[in-house]
Amino acid sequence: MGLNAKQMGHCTVDFEKNGKQIGFFNLPLSVHDDAWGVVRVPLAQIKNGEGPTVILEGGNHGDEYEGPIALGELIRDLDPGLVSGRLIFIPAINQPAVVAARRTSPIDDLNMNRTFPGSTVGTTTQQIAAFVNDVLFPMGDAFLDLHSGGSSLDIIPSSVIEPVDDPVKHAQNIAAVTAFDAPMIVVIDNRGDPRTATASAARAGLTVVGTEMAGGGTVSLDAVRICRRGVRNVLVHLGALPPTFGAPLEHEPELYDIPGAGAYVIAPDDGVFEPFHRNGEKVSAGQPAGRIHFLADPGRAPVELAYGIDGIVYARRQPGRVRPGNCCLVVAAPYRSRLT
Ligand SMILES: [Zn+2]
Repeated sequence: MGLNAKQMGHCTVDFEKNGKQIGFFNLPLSVHDDAWGVVRVPLAQIKNGEGPTVILEGGNHGDEYEGPIALGELIRDLDPGLVSGRLIFIPAINQPAVVAARRTSPIDDLNMNRTFPGSTVGTTTQQIAAFVNDVLFPMGDAFLDLHSGGSSLDIIPSSVIEPVDDPVKHAQNIAAVTAFDAPMIVVIDNRGDPRTATASAARAGLTVVGTEMAGGGTVSLDAVRICRRGVRNVLVHLGALPPTFGAPLEHEPELYDIPGAGAYVIAPDDGVFEPFHRNGEKVSAGQPAGRIHFLADPGRAPVELAYGIDGIVYARRQPGRVRPGNCCLVVAAPYRSRLT
């Protein structure tokens, strides 16, 4: 079920109109102190001449900042005359989560990136996802989904490939992701979850580029620079901006992936995790990865954890405090399959 005409009437951007528009998708939200109020999801479009429609998303998680910063700058600074085609910006798509600086929405506690394709009869987060999936994706040729590690992870700045079965589409995605020019390129299937924005965009046939830009709930000096130039490079690659907006590539494209459950070092106990390696260090299967300390029980020896696969440390948990099931570390391994 798509959004009906009355619901679409709450969108202040006319997708057929040329030039720059900065507005909102105003999603009705009827609560105790505001019976006929709305959630104001920021939305902008820059349209000019012939070319692809590119949808640029930030703020899917509200505590990941490099993407929304880069998209806000483009919205404000880009001269519409330089665009070929249509850029649709959703820089703070989970607006309630962005305002709260939380991964999940304070309204329904949902993680937007586990709600796609969304539902028009669901909760606020599900309705916003349905707007992206049902209204925006059918207009799009390409989708950039700009994530960072968020409050709980620090991740090596990387551009991310959403795995797809079609080899032609897979090659298009690799080319677009390579154009982003991050220090690493990683194939990530989010543990096979089909409910992510990039998985949904891939099913809709769009060229898909994801990112992971540092994290820790802060703005990384390096990652925000990588993100700024990466977004522009991808728009040049797609033909939506002139080549003068691109920057020469700085990185040799090296592909990695997160090859299954063995890549994750999971806490088996309740305590404080001490890592043994920094992000980017080479590690091997069976090697000690860190240990969990029991600070209030000093007579108890720490529990040692080990890596499950060979690779490099790609992501590390930020809070030291862990509970059973928490993800302490993630290892990325060189990606060889399905590459031709
Ligand atoms: Zn995210």
